[in-house]
Amino acid sequence: MLKGKKGVIFGVANRHSLAWHIAKEAYAHGAELILGVANERFREKVAPLAAEVGAPEPVICDVTSDESILSTFHVIKDRMPELDFMVHAIAFANRQDLEGRFIDTDRYGYHVAQDVSAFSLAAMSREAEKMMKPGSSILTLTYIGSVRAVPNYNVMGVAKAALESSVRYLATDLGSEGIRVNALSAGPIKTLSSSGVKGLRDKLDQQAVKNPLHRNITGEDVGKSAVFLLSDYSSGVTGEVLYVDNGYHSCATWA
Ligand code: NAD
Repeated sequence: MLKGKKGVIFGVANRHSLAWHIAKEAYAHGAELILGVANERFREKVAPLAAEVGAPEPVICDVTSDESILSTFHVIKDRMPELDFMVHAIAFANRQDLEGRFIDTDRYGYHVAQDVSAFSLAAMSREAEKMMKPGSSILTLTYIGSVRAVPNYNVMGVAKAALESSVRYLATDLGSEGIRVNALSAGPIKTLSSSGVKGLRDKLDQQAVKNPLHRNITGEDVGKSAVFLLSDYSSGVTGEVLYVDNGYHSCATWA
Protein backbone atom coordinates (compact mmCIF):
# COMPACT_ATOMS: atom_id res chain seq x y z
CA MET A 1 0.00 0.00 0.00
CA LEU A 2 2.97 2.37 0.48
CA LYS A 3 5.34 0.99 -2.14
CA GLY A 4 7.55 3.76 -3.53
CA LYS A 5 6.47 6.23 -0.84
CA LYS A 6 8.88 8.05 1.45
CA GLY A 7 7.96 9.38 4.85
CA VAL A 8 9.10 10.63 8.23
CA ILE A 9 7.62 9.31 11.47
CA PHE A 10 8.13 11.47 14.57
CA GLY A 11 7.63 10.24 18.13
CA VAL A 12 9.46 6.95 18.45
CA ALA A 13 10.66 6.51 22.05
CA ASN A 14 10.79 2.71 22.25
CA ARG A 15 9.15 -0.52 21.02
CA HIS A 16 5.88 0.39 22.74
CA SER A 17 5.48 3.74 20.96
CA LEU A 18 2.51 4.03 18.61
CA ALA A 19 4.97 5.68 16.18
CA TRP A 20 6.99 2.47 16.20
CA HIS A 21 3.92 0.33 15.45
CA ILE A 22 3.13 2.66 12.55
CA ALA A 23 6.74 2.48 11.32
CA LYS A 24 6.69 -1.33 11.32
CA GLU A 25 3.43 -1.50 9.33
CA ALA A 26 4.54 1.25 6.92
CA TYR A 27 7.80 -0.59 6.29
CA ALA A 28 5.95 -3.87 5.77
CA HIS A 29 3.86 -2.07 3.15
CA GLY A 30 6.93 -0.88 1.24
CA ALA A 31 7.58 2.63 2.60
CA GLU A 32 11.05 4.14 2.87
CA LEU A 33 11.36 5.77 6.29
CA ILE A 34 13.15 8.29 8.47
CA LEU A 35 12.37 8.14 12.21
CA GLY A 36 12.29 11.25 14.42
CA VAL A 37 13.17 11.33 18.14
CA ALA A 38 13.11 14.05 20.82
CA ASN A 39 16.76 14.07 21.91
CA GLU A 40 20.16 12.37 21.83
CA ARG A 41 19.20 9.85 24.54
CA PHE A 42 16.30 8.59 22.44
CA ARG A 43 18.44 8.62 19.30
CA GLU A 44 20.77 6.05 20.86
CA LYS A 45 17.87 3.89 22.05
CA VAL A 46 15.94 4.08 18.78
CA ALA A 47 18.89 3.61 16.37
CA PRO A 48 18.60 -0.22 16.47
CA LEU A 49 14.85 0.05 15.78
CA ALA A 50 15.52 2.33 12.81
CA ALA A 51 17.84 -0.31 11.39
CA GLU A 52 15.01 -2.89 11.67
CA VAL A 53 12.86 -0.84 9.30
CA GLY A 54 15.68 0.04 6.91
CA ALA A 55 15.87 3.65 8.15
CA PRO A 56 19.06 5.67 8.68
CA GLU A 57 20.12 7.05 12.08
CA PRO A 58 17.06 8.84 13.56
CA VAL A 59 16.80 12.63 13.28
CA ILE A 60 16.50 14.68 16.46
CA CYS A 61 13.66 17.19 16.71
CA ASP A 62 12.73 18.98 19.93
CA VAL A 63 9.40 20.48 18.93
CA THR A 64 9.56 23.19 21.61
CA SER A 65 12.31 24.88 19.52
CA ASP A 66 11.75 26.55 16.13
CA GLU A 67 15.46 26.16 15.39
CA SER A 68 15.31 22.45 16.08
CA ILE A 69 12.30 22.00 13.78
CA LEU A 70 14.03 23.95 10.99
CA SER A 71 17.35 22.13 11.27
CA THR A 72 15.59 18.74 11.45
CA PHE A 73 13.79 19.38 8.17
CA HIS A 74 17.08 20.50 6.58
CA VAL A 75 18.58 17.14 7.53
CA ILE A 76 15.50 15.29 6.27
CA LYS A 77 15.64 17.22 2.97
CA ASP A 78 19.26 16.17 2.44
CA ARG A 79 18.36 12.52 2.86
CA MET A 80 14.89 12.56 1.32
CA PRO A 81 14.22 15.60 -0.93
CA GLU A 82 10.53 14.70 -1.37
CA LEU A 83 8.15 13.47 1.31
CA ASP A 84 4.95 11.50 0.67
CA PHE A 85 3.91 11.44 4.31
CA MET A 86 4.63 12.70 7.81
CA VAL A 87 3.43 11.11 11.05
CA HIS A 88 3.23 13.31 14.17
CA ALA A 89 2.98 11.05 17.25
CA ILE A 90 4.13 13.55 19.85
CA ALA A 91 2.54 14.70 23.11
CA PHE A 92 3.63 15.90 26.51
CA ALA A 93 2.12 17.31 29.70
CA ASN A 94 3.56 17.65 33.16
CA ARG A 95 2.79 14.57 35.23
CA GLN A 96 1.11 16.58 38.00
CA ASP A 97 -1.39 17.88 35.41
CA LEU A 98 -2.50 14.34 34.51
CA GLU A 99 -4.27 13.65 37.79
CA GLY A 100 -6.73 15.38 40.07
CA ARG A 101 -8.71 18.38 38.84
CA PHE A 102 -8.26 20.15 35.49
CA ILE A 103 -9.14 23.40 37.24
CA ASP A 104 -5.82 23.27 39.09
CA THR A 105 -3.69 23.35 35.91
CA ASP A 106 -1.39 26.37 36.02
CA ARG A 107 -0.54 28.67 33.11
CA TYR A 108 2.82 27.01 32.51
CA GLY A 109 1.43 23.46 32.48
CA TYR A 110 -1.32 24.51 30.07
CA HIS A 111 1.20 26.20 27.78
CA VAL A 112 3.58 23.22 27.71
CA ALA A 113 0.81 20.76 26.83
CA GLN A 114 -0.48 22.97 24.00
CA ASP A 115 2.98 23.80 22.66
CA VAL A 116 4.30 20.25 22.45
CA SER A 117 1.07 18.39 21.70
CA ALA A 118 -0.84 20.76 19.39
CA PHE A 119 1.17 23.72 18.07
CA SER A 120 3.96 21.41 16.94
CA LEU A 121 1.70 19.83 14.30
CA ALA A 122 1.21 23.18 12.56
CA ALA A 123 4.91 24.13 12.84
CA MET A 124 6.06 20.78 11.43
CA SER A 125 3.40 20.69 8.71
CA ARG A 126 4.65 24.09 7.50
CA GLU A 127 8.10 22.60 6.89
CA ALA A 128 6.79 19.30 5.51
CA GLU A 129 4.57 21.17 3.02
CA LYS A 130 7.68 22.50 1.24
CA MET A 131 8.72 18.92 0.43
CA MET A 132 5.30 17.48 -0.41
CA LYS A 133 3.47 17.07 -3.69
CA PRO A 134 -0.21 16.31 -4.43
CA GLY A 135 -1.26 12.99 -2.90
CA SER A 136 0.86 13.43 0.23
CA SER A 137 -0.56 12.73 3.67
CA ILE A 138 -0.01 14.13 7.18
CA LEU A 139 -1.22 12.12 10.17
CA THR A 140 -1.39 12.88 13.88
CA LEU A 141 -2.47 10.82 16.90
CA THR A 142 -5.26 11.85 19.23
CA TYR A 143 -7.49 10.47 22.00
CA ILE A 144 -11.19 10.59 22.92
CA GLY A 145 -10.31 12.84 25.88
CA SER A 146 -10.58 15.70 23.35
CA VAL A 147 -14.36 15.40 23.13
CA ARG A 148 -15.24 13.82 26.49
CA ALA A 149 -13.98 14.68 29.96
CA VAL A 150 -11.94 11.56 30.72
CA PRO A 151 -10.78 11.36 34.37
CA ASN A 152 -7.15 12.52 34.80
CA TYR A 153 -6.62 13.22 31.08
CA ASN A 154 -7.33 16.88 31.91
CA VAL A 155 -5.00 19.36 30.18
CA MET A 156 -4.05 16.78 27.57
CA GLY A 157 -7.72 16.50 26.56
CA VAL A 158 -7.79 20.24 25.99
CA ALA A 159 -4.58 20.02 23.94
CA LYS A 160 -6.05 17.16 21.87
CA ALA A 161 -9.15 19.30 21.16
CA ALA A 162 -6.79 21.99 19.80
CA LEU A 163 -4.90 19.32 17.84
CA GLU A 164 -8.08 17.98 16.21
CA SER A 165 -9.19 21.50 15.34
CA SER A 166 -5.71 22.13 13.89
CA VAL A 167 -6.21 19.07 11.67
CA ARG A 168 -9.31 20.67 10.15
CA TYR A 169 -7.60 24.03 9.55
CA LEU A 170 -4.46 22.40 8.15
CA ALA A 171 -6.58 20.19 5.88
CA THR A 172 -8.20 23.38 4.56
CA ASP A 173 -4.86 25.20 4.15
CA LEU A 174 -3.12 22.32 2.37
CA GLY A 175 -6.06 20.85 0.45
CA SER A 176 -5.50 23.09 -2.58
CA GLU A 177 -2.04 21.49 -2.92
CA GLY A 178 -3.56 18.00 -2.75
CA ILE A 179 -2.06 17.35 0.70
CA ARG A 180 -4.36 15.53 3.15
CA VAL A 181 -4.29 15.96 6.95
CA ASN A 182 -5.99 13.52 9.34
CA ALA A 183 -5.95 12.32 12.93
CA LEU A 184 -6.19 8.78 14.24
CA SER A 185 -7.90 8.56 17.65
CA ALA A 186 -6.50 5.46 19.32
CA GLY A 187 -7.97 3.56 22.26
CA PRO A 188 -5.72 3.37 25.35
CA ILE A 189 -2.47 1.41 24.99
CA LYS A 190 0.30 1.20 27.59
CA THR A 191 3.23 3.36 26.42
CA LEU A 192 5.76 5.69 28.03
CA SER A 193 3.43 8.69 27.68
CA SER A 194 0.16 7.01 28.58
CA SER A 195 1.73 5.56 31.72
CA GLY A 196 1.93 9.15 32.96
CA VAL A 197 -1.88 9.39 33.02
CA LYS A 198 -3.10 8.30 36.45
CA GLY A 199 -5.46 5.30 36.31
CA LEU A 200 -4.53 4.03 32.84
CA ARG A 201 -4.81 0.41 34.04
CA ASP A 202 -8.47 1.02 35.00
CA LYS A 203 -9.16 2.56 31.58
CA LEU A 204 -7.66 -0.46 29.84
CA ASP A 205 -9.68 -2.87 31.99
CA GLN A 206 -12.92 -0.97 31.34
CA GLN A 207 -12.41 -0.55 27.62
CA ALA A 208 -11.53 -4.21 27.20
CA VAL A 209 -15.04 -5.06 28.32
CA LYS A 210 -17.05 -2.00 27.32
CA ASN A 211 -16.53 -1.92 23.57
CA PRO A 212 -18.21 -3.81 20.76
CA LEU A 213 -15.16 -5.99 20.07
CA HIS A 214 -14.61 -6.81 23.78
CA ARG A 215 -10.84 -6.45 23.66
CA ASN A 216 -8.18 -3.78 24.03
CA ILE A 217 -6.81 -2.04 21.00
CA THR A 218 -3.32 -3.13 19.92
CA GLY A 219 -0.37 -1.33 18.37
CA GLU A 220 -0.94 -3.40 15.26
CA ASP A 221 -4.54 -2.12 14.98
CA VAL A 222 -3.18 1.44 15.08
CA GLY A 223 -0.38 0.70 12.61
CA LYS A 224 -2.71 -0.86 10.05
CA SER A 225 -5.24 2.00 10.12
CA ALA A 226 -2.38 4.50 9.94
CA VAL A 227 -1.13 2.81 6.75
CA PHE A 228 -4.62 3.29 5.27
CA LEU A 229 -4.58 7.01 6.11
CA LEU A 230 -1.05 7.44 4.71
CA SER A 231 -1.84 5.54 1.53
CA ASP A 232 -3.72 6.36 -1.66
CA TYR A 233 -6.56 4.13 -0.39
CA SER A 234 -7.72 7.13 1.69
CA SER A 235 -7.34 9.58 -1.21
CA GLY A 236 -10.72 11.21 -0.50
CA VAL A 237 -10.26 11.50 3.29
CA THR A 238 -8.99 14.71 4.87
CA GLY A 239 -9.76 16.82 7.95
CA GLU A 240 -10.99 13.60 9.57
CA VAL A 241 -10.60 11.99 12.99
CA LEU A 242 -10.66 8.21 12.56
CA TYR A 243 -11.40 6.31 15.77
CA VAL A 244 -9.36 3.13 16.14
CA ASP A 245 -10.80 2.09 19.51
CA ASN A 246 -12.81 -1.08 18.84
CA GLY A 247 -15.93 1.10 18.54
CA TYR A 248 -15.78 2.41 22.13
CA HIS A 249 -16.56 6.01 21.09
CA SER A 250 -19.81 5.11 19.36
CA CYS A 251 -21.44 3.01 22.07
CA ALA A 252 -23.44 3.59 25.22
CA THR A 253 -20.63 2.28 27.40
CA TRP A 254 -22.63 2.77 30.58
CA ALA A 255 -25.23 0.19 29.40
P1 NAD B 1 5.32 7.59 23.52
O1 NAD B 1 5.80 8.09 24.85
O2 NAD B 1 5.92 6.36 23.01
O3 NAD B 1 5.43 8.72 22.42
C1 NAD B 1 5.35 10.11 22.71
C2 NAD B 1 6.49 10.76 21.99
O4 NAD B 1 6.45 12.19 22.15
C3 NAD B 1 7.86 10.29 22.52
O5 NAD B 1 8.61 9.74 21.47
C4 NAD B 1 8.47 11.57 23.06
O6 NAD B 1 9.89 11.59 22.92
C5 NAD B 1 7.80 12.60 22.15
N1 NAD B 1 7.96 13.95 22.67
C6 NAD B 1 7.58 14.46 23.86
N2 NAD B 1 8.01 15.73 23.99
C7 NAD B 1 8.67 16.04 22.84
C8 NAD B 1 9.37 17.19 22.35
N3 NAD B 1 9.46 18.32 23.07
N4 NAD B 1 9.91 17.13 21.10
C9 NAD B 1 9.83 16.02 20.35
N5 NAD B 1 9.20 14.90 20.75
C10 NAD B 1 8.63 14.92 21.99
O7 NAD B 1 3.73 7.42 23.72
P2 NAD B 1 2.57 7.13 22.66
O8 NAD B 1 1.42 6.66 23.48
O9 NAD B 1 3.06 6.27 21.55
O10 NAD B 1 2.21 8.57 22.13
C11 NAD B 1 2.22 8.93 20.74
C12 NAD B 1 0.98 9.76 20.42
O11 NAD B 1 -0.17 8.91 20.51
C13 NAD B 1 0.73 10.91 21.37
O12 NAD B 1 0.24 12.01 20.64
C14 NAD B 1 -0.35 10.37 22.27
O13 NAD B 1 -1.13 11.37 22.89
C15 NAD B 1 -1.15 9.57 21.26
N6 NAD B 1 -2.10 8.60 21.82
C16 NAD B 1 -1.68 7.65 22.66
C17 NAD B 1 -2.61 6.74 23.19
C18 NAD B 1 -2.18 5.68 24.15
O14 NAD B 1 -3.04 5.15 24.87
N7 NAD B 1 -0.91 5.31 24.20
C19 NAD B 1 -3.96 6.83 22.82
C20 NAD B 1 -4.34 7.82 21.94
C21 NAD B 1 -3.41 8.71 21.43
